[in-house]
Amino acid sequence: MKTFPMFLQMQGRRVIIAGGGEQAAQKCRLILKTEAAITVLAPVLDPELADLIAEGRIDWHTGPIRPCDFEGAALVFVATGCRATDSCLHMLAKSAGAIVNVVDQPDLCDALTPSIVDRSPVVVAIGTEGTAPVLARQIKTRLEEILEPRLGDLAALVGRLREHANTRLAPRARRDLWRWVFAGPARDVHRQGGERAAAKMIKHAIDTATFGTEDNGSVALVGAGPGAKDLITMRGVQQLQEADVIFYDRLVDPEILDLARRDAERIYVGKAPGCHHWPQDKISGVLVAAARQGKRVVRLKCGDPGVFARGAEEADALSAAGIPYEIVPGVTAASAASAALGGFLTERGTCDTLVLATGQSQTAGKSLGWMKTLQPGTRVAVYMGVGSAGKIAHEISVAGLQDVIDIDIVSRAQQIDQAIARCRASSLVRTVKESAISNPAILFLTWPQSTAQDVQSEKVAQLR
Ligand code: SAH
Repeated sequence: MKTFPMFLQMQGRRVIIAGGGEQAAQKCRLILKTEAAITVLAPVLDPELADLIAEGRIDWHTGPIRPCDFEGAALVFVATGCRATDSCLHMLAKSAGAIVNVVDQPDLCDALTPSIVDRSPVVVAIGTEGTAPVLARQIKTRLEEILEPRLGDLAALVGRLREHANTRLAPRARRDLWRWVFAGPARDVHRQGGERAAAKMIKHAIDTATFGTEDNGSVALVGAGPGAKDLITMRGVQQLQEADVIFYDRLVDPEILDLARRDAERIYVGKAPGCHHWPQDKISGVLVAAARQGKRVVRLKCGDPGVFARGAEEADALSAAGIPYEIVPGVTAASAASAALGGFLTERGTCDTLVLATGQSQTAGKSLGWMKTLQPGTRVAVYMGVGSAGKIAHEISVAGLQDVIDIDIVSRAQQIDQAIARCRASSLVRTVKESAISNPAILFLTWPQSTAQDVQSEKVAQLR
């Protein structure tokens, strides 16, 4: 190790930042996370720094810079944006005995700033001694996924309860207690926002000395997103990494399963359209059975578990069996497809209403109930609509809207073989047949507000 990691005490200490531009602002943002008193030395300031001074969060010194300006500082950052000025300021700061970091000049640095994962008071610093900053960022991303955002609050809570545990429990029992806290149900409850409930659980565990390893199984209904590995949420990844068993769907990309623990059991419960290999009640049944064995279960569904995913049926079965469950949202196909088109699901003034609909109706031959929601300023995102393209085109024509409705189709949105097409109702069936469009795909039917106004003003003009 050429460098040695240490956590510096920053409370009430001075940090000097020489420079008033973007680089200085960047260091300032970093140090503002601490409780240090920051002084910026610069003749002029970038707007972000100026705002911080106006808010009284940092001090500003404009005059000539002398060695005494650096005296007693815990750290000095030199970031003027001019290498020659930086070198001079480095010499001044060194002559005052300061620990100095000069931005982008590792040879002039006594201390290097690491990549930081901040779950304060839990802080992880990653350094590569300047050899591989990209690797440091990759490691940081992995850790950001693993460490839930509220972990710092849990650590702080444990810190507050430590004294209480010390007075009640022997050292060995205390170790078991804290292991139980960080690996068991209290952490889950806390992660889901139940700080008070978690505190109560931990206090109860301390008072009664009960923190066995018995764990009563639970289920997380997790949205995997549209298929791209990096479009699952961090909470989803966390659940995957903690799962003993994962029940997954046909549309879940195998790469997403790689995010799970290597020894987690993976069970495919997919349903192909029209071929119900795994009936819904059987899926609900296996979820309940696995949880009853005390397992941590993940039910991984494509997109969002709350959108055309039969999540409600599974949740009902779990509730009826008294099994706790959590819903982890995901990026639904409509969001993924809209982004793939370079557009937005709603657009102020043009499309203010968004309808999520399915192309599969429960009763064959029956008309698509959502057709009546097509109004000016509305966009309908049709899931599972490829097979009903003929029916959709027909109903649009019957409503006399064939020249009004814009149709965009995105198949396998955000996946490597994503395909996009745009057409009118008259050519919808041909477009689906002849282009690279196939399942899974989203059909957007949009009746733009402006068209409605145009049609209406045309009609008004004709009446006149
Ligand atoms: N829960 C899912 C929807 C499941 S229904 C979600 O929130 O996205 C299955 C339908 O979702 C498919 O028939 C298709 O219409 C749509 N779908 C899922 N993934 C998709 C993708 N990557 N691109 C386009 N459509 C997708």
